[in-house]
Amino acid sequence: MSLPPVPADPGWDEDLAWLDRDPEREVWLARAREHDEPPGDDEDYGNFEPFSPEELAEIEEAAADELLAVTAATTGRRGPGQPGSARVFPGESASRAAAFGPGMPLDVLPGCAQLAVAAEAAMEDGFAGVSEAELVGVVCAWDRVEAHAHARKLAAIAEMARRNPGELDAEFTADQVAYALGESRARADSLIGMAQSFGTRLPGTAAGLEDGTISRYKAEIIARATVLLEDEEARAAEAEVLDRAARLTPGGLRAAMARAVITVAPKTARERRETAAKDARVERWLQDTGNAALMGCELPPAEALAADQQITALARELKKAGLDGDMDQLRARAFLDLLLGQDSRPGQGGAAAAAAGPAGAAAGGPAARITLTAPLATLAGLADRPGELGSLGPVDPWLARDLAAAAAANPRTTWCLTVTDGQGHAVAHGCARPEPKNQRNRAGPGPPAETGFSFTPAGQDGPPGGYGTWRLRTPGDGPDLIITIDPITTDPCDHRFESQGHDPGVKLRHLAQVRHTTCTSPICRRPAAQCDHEHNTPYEAGGRTCLCNTGPKCRHDHRLKQHPGWKVDQLPDGTFRWTTPAGRSYDTEPTRYPI
Ligand SMILES: [Zn+2]
Ligand SMILES: [Zn+2]
Ligand SMILES: [Zn+2]
Repeated sequence: MSLPPVPADPGWDEDLAWLDRDPEREVWLARAREHDEPPGDDEDYGNFEPFSPEELAEIEEAAADELLAVTAATTGRRGPGQPGSARVFPGESASRAAAFGPGMPLDVLPGCAQLAVAAEAAMEDGFAGVSEAELVGVVCAWDRVEAHAHARKLAAIAEMARRNPGELDAEFTADQVAYALGESRARADSLIGMAQSFGTRLPGTAAGLEDGTISRYKAEIIARATVLLEDEEARAAEAEVLDRAARLTPGGLRAAMARAVITVAPKTARERRETAAKDARVERWLQDTGNAALMGCELPPAEALAADQQITALARELKKAGLDGDMDQLRARAFLDLLLGQDSRPGQGGAAAAAAGPAGAAAGGPAARITLTAPLATLAGLADRPGELGSLGPVDPWLARDLAAAAAANPRTTWCLTVTDGQGHAVAHGCARPEPKNQRNRAGPGPPAETGFSFTPAGQDGPPGGYGTWRLRTPGDGPDLIITIDPITTDPCDHRFESQGHDPGVKLRHLAQVRHTTCTSPICRRPAAQCDHEHNTPYEAGGRTCLCNTGPKCRHDHRLKQHPGWKVDQLPDGTFRWTTPAGRSYDTEPTRYPI
């Protein structure tokens, strides 16, 4: 059936953090260039001597014999052990790249020199007869070879370091590496540090880099995140992300690593934050384009988030006043207006108007909306597990408790409770409401908690099949909050939140956003609140408006799903399975909450 096409993205975003632009890396690259540090993203493997066609055929034959003996135990997105490839096609293709088809031996072979030889051979004849699914296999194979080559390079560097254990010898080994590679000393130092880490305290990451399931850049994210940890802690933090490091985007991996580091070493994370806060600063530099950059660093997270929202609010004002530009341009304009106390609205002549202009209006305008997600045990002081601050990412337990206490002092704060399973997937949810006035003070006081948070049964039965009704006490003078907790499982679905019409009820939409806090694409981190609430099987085709057939998709991914050749399945456990035109499929699991 044909549906009206979904219009293009309006391009108005509440929050730019979902873009997964990896600003830290971009800034680092910019700074590196500025200070003549190497950008470090150029690979220097892969300059193979050209083989003659005869040689290639020979090598391929020899390699293929050996490689085909490897059992393809699993299909793989990027290689061995990675979930995602759609299904195994019997080897019916006659192309040179046949062995790279989904589930075929070279599609799942770990990165190695032989894989490079085979991939080289597959590209002979300009890809004649190679299917798109095989082509994806070749791309992934080179990706694994690239990671593998880097692992081998680091192994050789680690050996250089091992041979020079003396203090000065060790210091100057970095210079030797830098001379040889034409790199800066700082980069050579970092290469040696990573080579040693991978050899000793990050065995899982080293293995992933070696077989190519973890790219060089992702391995560096893991190494950098764990640099302050003890060896045991580093291993434990790595173990928290290894099962999904291959499929997370760099931004997603960075957030997962930050959470893992806080989980295994909360005090170290707190000390790191507090120590780094002393380096709070504003930096400016000239960019390659000739324009300038201005950046605040090591700022308090909640204030940085609030300031960012203030910039967006003012950008909307500018838009409303008729100023041209997309959201990025308007936010940049708002940023400067706020700092310089000027007013860029048309007709204001750019005059300083801090008090009366939009800067002043924004300052007294709508309060910033900040979502804090934290384990109840952390808030009650019973555990030191990380929380999550809006789209900024993981925060340590002390910061989470401070922010929660501050929020409790504001009567406009609302509270939601999500129950998770052992993996952090939401299985039940309740939204708090103040206890009705006429019932207050009837229940005895809950057990006192040091942090002012307590959570006790409310002595009422909840709806059938639910998790009962609970009483949440927050610090301060506010009334107790009553929370009725509903299950949100769809395996099987009893359709308890189904709407009869096309549009979801408020509760259904809310629960879908609790289950998937971001767009359900495998690579998209756009907050669910800014996404379309989409029917997987269209309503017009008989699809239910229910948790079992709907979920958040951003406008881009909503359009992508409707494009010929793309297909999305919504599984009973809340997984979304995306199948691409090449016939490969990729899963998105429900959001993992901090537990
Ligand atoms: Zn809620
Ligand atoms: Zn249902
Ligand atoms: Zn998306």
